[in-house]
Amino acid sequence: MDNRRNFIKKSGLMLTALSLPFPGILLPKPKKKLGVALVGLGYYSTNLLAPALQQTEHCELRGIVTGSPEKIPQWQKKYGFKDSNVYNYENMNQVANNDDIDVIYIVLPNSMHPKYAIIAANAGKHVWCEKPMAPTADECRKIIAACEKNRVKLSIGYRMQHEKNTQTIMKWAKTKPFGNIQKVDSAAGFYGNDLGWRLEKEMGGGAMYDMGVYCLNAARYSTGLEPVSVSATHTTNRPQLFDEVDETTIFTLQFPNGITANCRTSFGENLNNLEINCEKGGYYLQPFQAYSGVKGKASDGTVLEPFGKNQQAVQMDDDALAILQDKPVLVPGKEGLRDIEIVEKIYESAAQNGKILSL
Ligand code: NAD
Repeated sequence: MDNRRNFIKKSGLMLTALSLPFPGILLPKPKKKLGVALVGLGYYSTNLLAPALQQTEHCELRGIVTGSPEKIPQWQKKYGFKDSNVYNYENMNQVANNDDIDVIYIVLPNSMHPKYAIIAANAGKHVWCEKPMAPTADECRKIIAACEKNRVKLSIGYRMQHEKNTQTIMKWAKTKPFGNIQKVDSAAGFYGNDLGWRLEKEMGGGAMYDMGVYCLNAARYSTGLEPVSVSATHTTNRPQLFDEVDETTIFTLQFPNGITANCRTSFGENLNNLEINCEKGGYYLQPFQAYSGVKGKASDGTVLEPFGKNQQAVQMDDDALAILQDKPVLVPGKEGLRDIEIVEKIYESAAQNGKILSL
């Protein structure tokens, strides 16, 4: 019955449209999904992004860029894309001639983000770049410039900013339901032994780049303010393993209006907490940066229930819609850049035994 009704409705629409001076004007536009190619098929692409791309409404997995030929048949078997949509790091620039691919998602070790984000932008493709955007602020600016020059959109993979409970506390920074914010505590970390490139300075390793940007970004989004100074120190319980990069970084950010954020990040402890203290109460998210189950509570008893949707699918759909509708992206390049400007100062301060540095 429903199908028949839909058919009559649709054919009615078509007849009306055909009898108009501009036929087709009333017909809904064909729905376009953007084609995404993942660059780097490691843990995050394999276990989180590719599965999430099976749940997205506005984009789909159509290609890969990989330096590991043995992964190609497995990925093609699982996700069924064409041979012509498979690239390696040397021929990736040829994606410029491939209309199947609209977006290139950079999911490589941190130090490789700039080179491949810029190749993607110069191929005329929209760029999604994982966090941290790049090891240095200068490299972040180069990525932004390449995207601007090629008129493509750039989003940074800060998935939390797409998450519902996180968005609630971002809103509370403006509406101040518990009065002015006075103090923020944020901690993000995990105990890791098998850390691979994350132990190498050359690759952009270190706890601050990997997990610390969650604390830093959270301190900024939960206050809605920019810090004015920072001081930081590093510690390690495993000096033989952490001879190049930080195992634990503790940093304090001062914001305008006397707000302080105490942050801790580590590869030696499981940490996942964001707490905001205000004049008349406060609220927390715990966990605040997990892939699922982000939840919390406010001092008036308000419960922030887990979201229940695939975070990465929501993130990629938000970013795809921004492209399809030509609207600003939720987490632009300047957001990734701002964090890295502060990360540079954090390392500078730690190298000077916690000296307070202006931002
Ligand atoms: P990974 O080590 O599991 O994967 C990295 C991939 O890069 C591998 O496929 C590897 O083969 C490839 N690669 C190419 N050249 C390489 C080289 N010279 N050295 C090492 N690997 C090389 O890492 P991952 O956990 O998938 O992280 C990749 C990126 O994604 C990082 O920037 C990380 O910060 C980010 N990430 C983000 C989230 C998130 O929640 N947003 C989660 C995990 C990782």
